Amino acid sequence: MPVSGLPPYDDQNIFARILRGEIPCKKVFENAFALAFHDIHPQAPVHVLVIPKGPYCSFADFSASASEAEIAGFIRAVGSVAKDLGLEAPGYRLLANMGEQSGQEVPHFHVHLFGGRPLGRMIPAA
Ligand code: 5GP
Repeated sequence: MPVSGLPPYDDQNIFARILRGEIPCKKVFENAFALAFHDIHPQAPVHVLVIPKGPYCSFADFSASASEAEIAGFIRAVGSVAKDLGLEAPGYRLLANMGEQSGQEVPHFHVHLFGGRPLGRMIPAA
Protein backbone atom coordinates (compact mmCIF):
# COMPACT_ATOMS: atom_id res chain seq x y z
CA MET A 1 0.00 0.00 0.00
CA PRO A 2 1.41 3.43 -0.92
CA VAL A 3 1.83 5.78 2.00
CA SER A 4 -0.81 8.51 2.02
CA GLY A 5 0.49 11.76 0.47
CA LEU A 6 3.42 10.11 -1.33
CA PRO A 7 3.47 9.25 -5.04
CA PRO A 8 2.99 5.60 -6.06
CA TYR A 9 6.04 3.47 -6.82
CA ASP A 10 7.42 4.05 -10.34
CA ASP A 11 8.65 0.70 -11.65
CA GLN A 12 10.70 2.46 -14.34
CA ASN A 13 13.01 4.13 -11.79
CA ILE A 14 16.70 3.37 -12.29
CA PHE A 15 17.04 1.06 -9.28
CA ALA A 16 13.99 -0.96 -10.33
CA ARG A 17 15.69 -1.41 -13.68
CA ILE A 18 18.95 -2.47 -11.98
CA LEU A 19 16.98 -4.99 -9.89
CA ARG A 20 15.45 -6.45 -13.06
CA GLY A 21 18.91 -6.70 -14.66
CA GLU A 22 18.02 -4.18 -17.39
CA ILE A 23 20.90 -1.90 -16.35
CA PRO A 24 24.26 -3.19 -15.09
CA CYS A 25 25.70 -2.44 -11.67
CA LYS A 26 28.91 -3.22 -9.80
CA LYS A 27 27.34 -5.64 -7.35
CA VAL A 28 28.87 -6.20 -3.92
CA PHE A 29 26.09 -8.23 -2.24
CA GLU A 30 22.73 -9.81 -2.99
CA ASN A 31 20.29 -11.96 -1.06
CA ALA A 32 16.50 -12.40 -0.92
CA PHE A 33 16.00 -9.01 0.72
CA ALA A 34 18.64 -6.65 -0.62
CA LEU A 35 21.02 -5.75 -3.41
CA ALA A 36 24.17 -3.66 -2.81
CA PHE A 37 26.25 -2.03 -5.52
CA HIS A 38 28.75 0.78 -5.98
CA ASP A 39 27.33 4.26 -6.55
CA ILE A 40 28.00 5.45 -10.10
CA HIS A 41 29.26 8.83 -8.76
CA PRO A 42 31.10 7.91 -5.57
CA GLN A 43 31.42 10.65 -2.95
CA ALA A 44 33.92 8.74 -0.77
CA PRO A 45 36.51 5.99 -1.41
CA VAL A 46 33.74 3.53 -0.54
CA HIS A 47 30.25 4.58 -1.60
CA VAL A 48 27.85 1.69 -1.84
CA LEU A 49 24.07 1.77 -2.22
CA VAL A 50 21.97 -0.88 -0.48
CA ILE A 51 18.42 -1.27 -1.76
CA PRO A 52 15.57 -3.54 -0.71
CA LYS A 53 14.23 -5.91 -3.34
CA GLY A 54 10.65 -4.80 -2.79
CA PRO A 55 8.97 -1.80 -4.48
CA TYR A 56 9.32 0.92 -1.83
CA CYS A 57 9.71 4.58 -2.86
CA SER A 58 11.40 5.90 0.23
CA PHE A 59 12.19 5.32 3.88
CA ALA A 60 8.69 6.52 4.75
CA ASP A 61 7.16 3.90 2.45
CA PHE A 62 9.54 1.11 3.48
CA SER A 63 9.20 1.68 7.22
CA ALA A 64 5.40 1.85 7.01
CA SER A 65 4.68 -0.83 4.41
CA ALA A 66 7.42 -3.48 4.34
CA SER A 67 6.97 -6.70 6.29
CA GLU A 68 8.99 -7.32 9.43
CA ALA A 69 10.97 -9.98 7.55
CA GLU A 70 11.81 -7.49 4.80
CA ILE A 71 12.84 -4.81 7.29
CA ALA A 72 14.98 -7.20 9.34
CA GLY A 73 16.47 -8.75 6.22
CA PHE A 74 17.34 -5.37 4.77
CA ILE A 75 18.90 -3.98 7.96
CA ARG A 76 20.96 -7.15 8.42
CA ALA A 77 22.11 -6.90 4.81
CA VAL A 78 23.33 -3.32 5.37
CA GLY A 79 25.30 -4.49 8.40
CA SER A 80 26.79 -7.45 6.49
CA VAL A 81 27.85 -5.28 3.58
CA ALA A 82 29.61 -2.80 5.88
CA LYS A 83 31.36 -5.64 7.68
CA ASP A 84 32.36 -7.45 4.47
CA LEU A 85 33.80 -4.21 3.08
CA GLY A 86 36.07 -3.97 6.15
CA LEU A 87 34.45 -0.80 7.41
CA GLU A 88 33.56 -1.77 10.98
CA ALA A 89 36.96 -1.04 12.50
CA PRO A 90 37.62 2.31 10.80
CA GLY A 91 33.95 3.29 10.86
CA TYR A 92 31.43 4.33 8.27
CA ARG A 93 28.34 6.43 7.69
CA LEU A 94 24.82 5.46 6.62
CA LEU A 95 22.55 7.99 4.94
CA ALA A 96 19.07 7.76 3.48
CA ASN A 97 17.46 10.66 1.67
CA MET A 98 13.68 10.95 1.89
CA GLY A 99 11.74 13.39 -0.25
CA GLU A 100 12.30 16.75 -1.83
CA GLN A 101 14.17 18.67 0.87
CA SER A 102 16.67 15.81 1.27
CA GLY A 103 17.46 15.85 -2.45
CA GLN A 104 16.35 12.24 -2.98
CA GLU A 105 16.89 11.57 -6.69
CA VAL A 106 15.92 7.95 -7.12
CA PRO A 107 12.43 6.99 -5.88
CA HIS A 108 13.38 3.50 -4.71
CA PHE A 109 14.38 3.37 -1.04
CA HIS A 110 18.14 3.07 -0.60
CA VAL A 111 20.80 3.52 2.02
CA HIS A 112 24.12 5.10 1.12
CA LEU A 113 27.10 3.49 2.84
CA PHE A 114 30.18 5.75 2.95
CA GLY A 115 33.66 4.93 4.20
CA GLY A 116 37.34 4.73 3.46
CA ARG A 117 38.35 8.13 4.87
CA PRO A 118 37.42 10.47 7.73
CA LEU A 119 33.96 11.68 6.75
CA GLY A 120 33.86 15.09 8.37
CA ARG A 121 30.76 16.91 9.51
CA MET A 122 27.51 15.03 9.39
CA ILE A 123 25.74 17.81 7.48
CA PRO A 124 27.85 20.44 5.70
CA ALA A 125 27.09 24.01 6.64
CA ALA A 126 24.49 25.53 4.33
P1 5GP B 1 19.69 9.88 -3.74
O1 5GP B 1 20.03 11.30 -4.07
O2 5GP B 1 18.40 9.45 -4.37
O3 5GP B 1 19.75 9.58 -2.26
O4 5GP B 1 20.86 9.00 -4.34
C1 5GP B 1 20.81 8.39 -5.58
C2 5GP B 1 22.20 7.88 -5.90
O5 5GP B 1 22.10 6.99 -6.99
C3 5GP B 1 23.21 8.98 -6.29
O6 5GP B 1 24.31 8.95 -5.39
C4 5GP B 1 23.61 8.58 -7.72
O7 5GP B 1 24.99 8.81 -7.99
C5 5GP B 1 23.25 7.11 -7.77
N1 5GP B 1 22.89 6.64 -9.10
C6 5GP B 1 22.05 7.23 -9.98
N2 5GP B 1 21.93 6.49 -11.10
C7 5GP B 1 22.72 5.40 -10.91
C8 5GP B 1 23.02 4.27 -11.73
O8 5GP B 1 22.53 4.10 -12.84
N3 5GP B 1 23.86 3.35 -11.20
C9 5GP B 1 24.43 3.50 -9.96
N4 5GP B 1 25.25 2.53 -9.55
N5 5GP B 1 24.16 4.55 -9.17
C10 5GP B 1 23.33 5.49 -9.64
